Amino acid sequence: MTPEEALERAAGVGIHTLRLPTPFMIGRVNTYLIEDDPLTLIDTGANSGKGLDELEQQLGEHGRSIEDLELLILTHQHIDHIGLAEIIASRSGAEVAAIDAAAGFLENFGEDTERDDQFAASLMLSQGVPEDVVTALQTVSRSFRAWGSRPKVTRPLRDGEVLELRDRSLEVQHRPGHSPSDTLLWDADRRILIAADHLIAHISSNALITRPLDGSAERPQALVTYIESMRRTRELPAEIVLSGHGEPITDHVALIDERLERHRQRAEKIHELVAERPRTGYELAQALWGNVAVTQAFLTISEVIGHLDLLINDGRVRELSGENGVVRYEAVP
Ligand SMILES: [Zn+2]
Repeated sequence: MTPEEALERAAGVGIHTLRLPTPFMIGRVNTYLIEDDPLTLIDTGANSGKGLDELEQQLGEHGRSIEDLELLILTHQHIDHIGLAEIIASRSGAEVAAIDAAAGFLENFGEDTERDDQFAASLMLSQGVPEDVVTALQTVSRSFRAWGSRPKVTRPLRDGEVLELRDRSLEVQHRPGHSPSDTLLWDADRRILIAADHLIAHISSNALITRPLDGSAERPQALVTYIESMRRTRELPAEIVLSGHGEPITDHVALIDERLERHRQRAEKIHELVAERPRTGYELAQALWGNVAVTQAFLTISEVIGHLDLLINDGRVRELSGENGVVRYEAVP
């Protein structure tokens, strides 16, 4: 099955892909209109006039308007997926559904992203990222916040519960890793999985190290969690996986195997680097990605720490606390 055929098959069972613009590097985000009762939209795009205009236009192509929507499901807490949620909910009166753990975060979006940024900043500083780089990234992140929104979650979802629509059942699967709130919707009858950013065909989803949703200060092992989540998804007999960006996936087992192998190789590469001499997370990121470690410091630090977690859990690397609270990593002989 080609990606085009997969999209056609999904549309044939009432799942229409609406690709909405975002101002971010990732490009367009996929949202899904499900022709059913209730009339359902999954994810929203970013909060911009252009996004809203295109959403209205694309809904119109299916004979629908924002006012017709009855249920809005948010797959996770990222800005490009939730930005129009408040506007859609107020214009349509639709129920807003999201995994229960994310409800508080979504309702306090501004304050909670500020806390996320503080968390990210102290994490980056502890990994040796220079202060001016951290400050610059925080400024960028603040300027992005206007593309978000703070919807009230009226329909909290529990992991494992089944949403019954007139023509289909969607099982809710909480599969954190890319973010703490990643939620998949599994249509077992049709073997269609709506996976959002949990699995993307053309790029490896980042396991971003994000402040825990329960407010605890402990640093999560995002990549370890993500790998566990991917292993569970691998077991699903899915024929079509619909992603948050790019094209549908028609062989998720092969894709997940490839991702797992790549993570294993990257961990080996990082092990080699710390075996040469102890290094900070920032030094590792620079050795791996050069200047991208500066412009995308948080992304690359998340990536490095994720793989260090794997190595530390295996007893192959350990942390050394250095000056000014900057951590170094060394290989265990
Ligand atoms: Zn995302």
